Amino acid sequence: LSGVQERTLIAVKPDGVQRRLVGQIIQRFEQRGFKLVGLKMVQVSEDLLSQHYGQLRTKPFYPSLLHYMTSGPVVAMVWEGHNVVQTSRSMVGHTNPAEARAGTVRGDFSIHVSRNVVHASDSQEGAQREIQLWFQGKELLNWDCCDQSITC
Ligand code: ADP
Ligand code: MG
Repeated sequence: LSGVQERTLIAVKPDGVQRRLVGQIIQRFEQRGFKLVGLKMVQVSEDLLSQHYGQLRTKPFYPSLLHYMTSGPVVAMVWEGHNVVQTSRSMVGHTNPAEARAGTVRGDFSIHVSRNVVHASDSQEGAQREIQLWFQGKELLNWDCCDQSITC
């Protein structure tokens, strides 16, 4: 359990914020054992989104995706821990909520692919790219438990 810890970008999308799901989503990542190292609420720009979702530029749903993602604030987070990229993808569930299993965020909280509540990076390279896009280095904090009597 030593060495550089993996990080991923998790974002509660505008529907998740509007439906008051931020706390429950954070709770799932905390209770799983991951470490929160960055957190902010942002009104996302089209410029950032066009970089974030650049690979989807040619998809028919791309214009509505941009509209959705700019329809209100997003809560962006960086979580750290062993295998966090892969594990958070399985915690978030299938892109299409109809195929997302119960127990996943999308499987528990959503019904439509165009309102699927949360984003999670899909690879380590993608995570690094997205974290750099969404966060400045100084917004990511390294911390340790100062009280060793607390289990963490
Ligand atoms: P994921 O978010 O699971 O990584 P993708 O990267 O394929 O999925 O797509 C990014 C986002 O684009 C999805 O989370 C969803 O918000 C939206 N999206 C994907 N497919 C569709 C679709 N068929 N119709 C509407 N929106 C979609
Ligand atoms: Mg994706």
